[in-house]
Amino acid sequence: MTDIVTLETVEAVRAWTAAHHAEGRRVGLVPTMGYLHDGHLSLVRACAAHADVVLMSIFVNPTQFGPNEDLDRYPRDPDGDTAKARSAGCAAVFIPPVEAMYPAGHATTVHVDGVTGPLCGGFRPGHFDGVCTIVLKLFNLTRCDVAAFGEKDYQQLATIRRMVRDLDVPVQIVPGPIVREADGLAMSSRNVYLSADERARGLSLRRGLLAARAAWGAGERDPVVIARTAREIVEAAAPTRIDYVDALDAETLRSVDAPAARGLVVAAAAYFGGTRLIDNIVLEAST
Ligand code: AMP
Repeated sequence: MTDIVTLETVEAVRAWTAAHHAEGRRVGLVPTMGYLHDGHLSLVRACAAHADVVLMSIFVNPTQFGPNEDLDRYPRDPDGDTAKARSAGCAAVFIPPVEAMYPAGHATTVHVDGVTGPLCGGFRPGHFDGVCTIVLKLFNLTRCDVAAFGEKDYQQLATIRRMVRDLDVPVQIVPGPIVREADGLAMSSRNVYLSADERARGLSLRRGLLAARAAWGAGERDPVVIARTAREIVEAAAPTRIDYVDALDAETLRSVDAPAARGLVVAAAAYFGGTRLIDNIVLEAST
């Protein structure tokens, strides 16, 4: 296995990509906030299917956290992450300090309308502006040809796709399926916050979404009933708070009248203790 390069400055990452492009290689990017798990690493492999070299960025982006969110306690392990990224096949990691990404005087924000409105958009004001701004900056800095994003953050993936189309960004977006723990809990860097009891109750998200899928499979086509089926199971696990359990058009993320003719995404966000978990499931029109 070849060694991995650690890049920390804007100049270094620009030079790294320029050198690969000069050799005719396609550069892939996997943007992350670190504390890597198999979900992140699966994106490296998804990206590598479309690129010759893969770069992973590890940056806990302050502009996508709200004032009462977990920016200060977000878990970090740059050395462990670098070793994991290397074993997954990354050629380089980009780990910039905050000042490198947001130098004094930074005043520009990227805002995508529409698809950012429902779900997390209603509960995390400014979150997707922070996401779009950092992702577009990473695209511009790295000049990547392809970038991979997980379906775990379904609304984020839809938002990035919208931004890339609307702003003619020359980056191919590759989606990666949700990677789960053996018991079905969606992998997340935030899972380390959960106590054993909270973790067990957090599994209700997955159980609720599977129940929604079973209802869909049995012919139910009313999005309100589909969402209620999932919500009742989450509620029974006594979460600290439910942000949402919604069934929306899988492509536009708009509300749908019954009967749903096209595919739905059922998405849920709830707190167990102080930890906010999200999960989703796509219900294909053909099933
Ligand atoms: P994060 O570090 O949480 O910002 O996530 C970085 C990327 O990894 C995003 O594209 C996420 O959607 C993706 N990701 C996070 N968790 C998972 C998972 N369990 N399965 C697949 N992709 C994931």
